[in-house]
Parts: sequence; structure tokens; C-alpha cells
Amino acid sequence: MPLEYYVNIQDDSVFLQPEFEEMVLHELGHAMDYGTPDWFQADLWQTAVDADNAFVTEYAKTNTGEDFAESFVAWVIYRAYRERVDPSVLKSIERIAHRLQYFDDRLNNPLATCKSIKPYESLFQC
Ligand SMILES: [Zn+2]
Repeated sequence: MPLEYYVNIQDDSVFLQPEFEEMVLHELGHAMDYGTPDWFQADLWQTAVDADNAFVTEYAKTNTGEDFAESFVAWVIYRAYRERVDPSVLKSIERIAHRLQYFDDRLNNPLATCKSIKPYESLFQC
């Protein structure tokens, strides 16, 4: 069965903002969470959340779904765009080290190795 997930962007002006990339990654995080139940493993995720005992952003505290999406953005930044962000941001991301490990384990660290990111490999061209 094909994956069906829709991203609702309500403000056209958002495309002109530097935060657009981060927003798309956030929504992709939701797609991975809600749209791929075979991929997402709630028990492993909860174990990572409990072990971290911290949130990467204030918005991540909203609910489990937002925590997952915000953590996914943080993982992409930490693994692929470290040079773009302030060291203090990297430090705050390191507070969710177990969640980062969850994504590493589930995605085989494709942003570092450029090998695979099933089922999203076509979205991450190296
Ligand atoms: Zn969200």
C-alpha cells in the first residue's frame, strides 16, 4: 500500500524564509512517525525519550508527535549540517543523545554514509 501523507503549508510567504528547510524536515519527521507504522517502533522511541530526560526544543514538549518531529530535525542538523549552526545549538541537541541514536539505528546513518534511507532514499540525494 503506498504511503499517503499530506503536508499542509498554509502561508505561501514561508517559502521565502530561511526556516523553510527546517519546517519541511519537521513535517517529514511527522510523515515518518505517523505514516510508517512498520518503521516507527514506539517502544524503542519511548526508551530513548526516557533515557534522555530532556527535550531539544520547547515545542518538542507539546506532545509525542512534535517531540519526534523536532528530534528528527535535530538529528538531520547534527549529522549533516553541523557547520551551519552555533555550537550552543549542537550542545542542546546532544541532550537528546538517545534519540539521535534511535535515528542512527533506524536509518543506518544515511546522511553520513549516503547509502540508504529506505523508504525515503529518493528524498536524500547525496
Ligand atoms: Zn509538527
